[in-house]
Amino acid sequence: MALKHQAPRGTRDLLPGEIERWQWAEARARDVLEHYGYREIRTPIFEEVELFARTSGEASEVVQKEMYRFTDLGERELALRPEGTASVCRAYLQHGMASLGRIHRLWYLGPMFRYGRPQKGRYRQFWQVGAEIIGTPAPGADVEMIALFVDLFDAWGFKDLTVAINSLGMPETRARYAEKLRAWLAPAREQLSADSRQRLEVNPLRVLDTKDPDELKLLGGEGGLGPLPHLIDLLDAESREHFDAVRAGLTALGIAHEIDHGLVRGLDYYTRTAFEVHDRSLGAQSALGGGGRYDGLIEALGGPPTPGVGFSIGLDRVLLMVEEKGFAPEPPAGGIYIVAMEGTRLVAPMLARALRQVYTVDYDLEGRGVNAQMKAAGKGGARAVMLLGDDEWQRGEVVLKELKTGAQQTVPLDGIVEALDRMLMGTTSEMEIP
Ligand code: AMP
Repeated sequence: MALKHQAPRGTRDLLPGEIERWQWAEARARDVLEHYGYREIRTPIFEEVELFARTSGEASEVVQKEMYRFTDLGERELALRPEGTASVCRAYLQHGMASLGRIHRLWYLGPMFRYGRPQKGRYRQFWQVGAEIIGTPAPGADVEMIALFVDLFDAWGFKDLTVAINSLGMPETRARYAEKLRAWLAPAREQLSADSRQRLEVNPLRVLDTKDPDELKLLGGEGGLGPLPHLIDLLDAESREHFDAVRAGLTALGIAHEIDHGLVRGLDYYTRTAFEVHDRSLGAQSALGGGGRYDGLIEALGGPPTPGVGFSIGLDRVLLMVEEKGFAPEPPAGGIYIVAMEGTRLVAPMLARALRQVYTVDYDLEGRGVNAQMKAAGKGGARAVMLLGDDEWQRGEVVLKELKTGAQQTVPLDGIVEALDRMLMGTTSEMEIP
């Protein structure tokens, strides 16, 4: 049967069975972020188009080709957010957060939207968890960001990550580097894809983002162009000092990192530090997360010069790896299933409602026979069954049965909680086994 409706291309449903891993990953992330003292911020899922055009750069791929734009009924030009940092900075300005404290440590988690070509690890709606430190230009902030970044991955099970790091310097340096890169690439212009040729005109740094294997070879120095010019060779003294301080800070923390001269990041607002982690086993969409310093961004939004540094991590890709590598623990074992008889049908919902304050409890909604109820209990993964036999109930008792062992005991009503605790905590030794 052809279905009339399907989830839009590039979007997915996260169903029970998969969602538990997401919940686990999100809970781990929250835990780490809170221990770092970061505070959550939630911003709208859509914003004015102008916000992203100003911050990401009108010429950026995301703004030009990938933004979900729409005009609302009030003729406002809006866009589904393609990333989180611009919104966080907008909120920071809008609510005068500068007056509440000099340094703000914030985090967010939620869906982002980009109209890319869907493939493994690339979706049109995807989730990011991100963090920002707004208010200090100190290299120590970059170091803390990268430590937090690594510790999030660590909490999800990714050990021994190497962070790729580079410095993009200040805008003037980037402009000089762009010229240098343009000149370096000029002799190979004919070998470049149409996309890269266009980037070469508008923003040559973007050519470094290419995924094309032939172009990557060229950039790797194998195409007769000689070695790729390095941006960090052009850094001004202060940016150089900043970069060295960040690297020294990472080394002091034992965080493995290596310089990647081709790392320029996709959005225009970065200054100085840029970093990423990749997992090559993901294929073409290998970036798990990345970030950097964006000292010019808040000013670009009309605020006072305010430095910031942050990152975002793609949860969809993280979850792909978590599943592949089996990082997530088994979901917690099931709860209690109440099995009712003819005379105790009305008791089951009452007892379930009371016990649900503490335990996970299920029961039959359809008045089926005992066998069907027992089957449902097993199928639903219950750990224990509570049998409400007519006679036992008359005597003020119920029968508890642990499904795995078959151990069974009759318990007075006022002893239920104690008995369940003992059973579900795994201490079954005191049970009478008939
Ligand atoms: P970016 O801001 O582009 O560096 O994105 C940060 C992270 O979000 C990337 O490293 C990816 O893990 C993830 N990401 C970006 N775009 C997508 C997408 N279309 N689908 C899934 N994940 C994405």
